[in-house]
Amino acid sequence: MAKEKMGNNQRVGIYPGTFDPITNGHLDIIERAARHMCDRLIVSVAINAGKGPLFSLEERTNLVRTEIERINDRCPEATIEVRAFDNLLIHHAQDVGASFIVRGLRAVSDFEYEFQMTGMNAKLNREIETVFLMASDRYQFVSSRFVKEICSLGGDVSQFVPESVEAKLREKLGK
Ligand code: ADP
Repeated sequence: MAKEKMGNNQRVGIYPGTFDPITNGHLDIIERAARHMCDRLIVSVAINAGKGPLFSLEERTNLVRTEIERINDRCPEATIEVRAFDNLLIHHAQDVGASFIVRGLRAVSDFEYEFQMTGMNAKLNREIETVFLMASDRYQFVSSRFVKEICSLGGDVSQFVPESVEAKLREKLGK
């Protein structure tokens, strides 16, 4: 079983993001990457103060941890863990021994940014590949930004995020 693979034979992937907060779209990418692509998947939460996140690093990381525990329970193919990072992504990937970076692609609008980031990262380290998973059709339109906006205006976000995240959003936004 893949979870038992040790050492250098392990395929280690990293899924970086701000996760402010984690959504069902992110979770779908995590589960698919864990099932089909790696033995160990590290979900790396960017400190990213520049983006002015709503949730603190600790809150974002805790929400990710709660949700990946559920996936770990039903997904024997890989071990999923969470880390925080505030250095250059490619350095962080090297530090954790990842050989590839996983990213999710929704509409064409994601493409330009992802294309540039992949190109720059490839220049910084040719050994670390970036691979993309297309968003599942039911999560194509789900984004952390809109989830926060909808919730702040009193809308129902239960179809976009897990219960733990919905509760935290309501608490944070006083809804
Ligand atoms: P970042 O600040 O790096 O864009 P995000 O947390 O917004 O971090 O997203 C992390 C990754 O997840 C990105 O590759 C993004 O395109 C992808 N992603 C976000 N929402 C979805 C979704 N609904 N379906 C698939 N991928 C998604």
